Amino acid sequence: MLKIENLHAEIDGKQILNGLTLEVNAGEVHAIMGPNGAGKSTLAYVLGGRPGYEVTEGSVTFMGPDGKERDLLDLDPHERAAAGLFLGFQYPVEIPGVSNVQFLREALNSQRKERGEEPLSGGEFLKLAKEKAGLLKLDMDMLKRNVNVGFSGGEKKRNEMVQMGILDPALAVLDETDSGLDIDALKVVGEGINAIMRKPEKAVLLITHYQRLLDYVAPDHVHILAMGRIVKSGGPELAHQLEEHGYDVVMEAA
Ligand code: ADP
Ligand code: MG
Ligand code: MG
Repeated sequence: MLKIENLHAEIDGKQILNGLTLEVNAGEVHAIMGPNGAGKSTLAYVLGGRPGYEVTEGSVTFMGPDGKERDLLDLDPHERAAAGLFLGFQYPVEIPGVSNVQFLREALNSQRKERGEEPLSGGEFLKLAKEKAGLLKLDMDMLKRNVNVGFSGGEKKRNEMVQMGILDPALAVLDETDSGLDIDALKVVGEGINAIMRKPEKAVLLITHYQRLLDYVAPDHVHILAMGRIVKSGGPELAHQLEEHGYDVVMEAA
């Protein structure tokens, strides 16, 4: 589904990604772990197409649910989303003056339009939104409020997972979705990710500094990202080694 080859990227002339190679197949959850400043968020931003991140070498190929292979780096951010890519961020934005329901329906219908599909009616959309909000134990009242305004950290993350459920992406790239969550919210968000994304035709790139989210969303593969590239890959045991011994020790053994 996703093939990243020898990716080099820079911000303001500063090289951050430095030959990153990674392949993700449908049905897989990959955890990307790494020390602060390693380039984890940069990878998420580059995949999403955020302005200011310049790819200087390498390639990213993405195959969405339509079975077409695309050069991801050639697409605008909204085209990437319509092709089936979802990005979740550490700090979800607040949008005063726009209700969650309006925002989500607009986002979904613009993606459907891009794919040549009919828009959902208000009624159809509400039914879908209710179902996904229920999955994340997010009160319907929250969906009527302005996007993320006054939401707690945990509510923002659950809201973002509702958004993911509604957009129904093929590939989710989740950057530190677990940061700032208490134990209860962590469980709800973890179970939400499983319910929405743990399917044979979907894949997840779970970027996280800690093992704890992986207790709920069990990864098939774990990678250590350091100095802008994947320096070590393994199974779930790698995350436990990191938790126990720290990045320095595990990376020295690499
Ligand atoms: P991580 O998410 O792994 O903690 P980041 O991708 O956020 O790492 O950052 C990687 C490196 O890029 C860090 O050294 C950081 O200081 C640098 N960096 C991030 N954003 C910018 C920016 N806008 N301008 C210059 N350097 C940046
Ligand atoms: Mg960071
Ligand atoms: Mg980061």
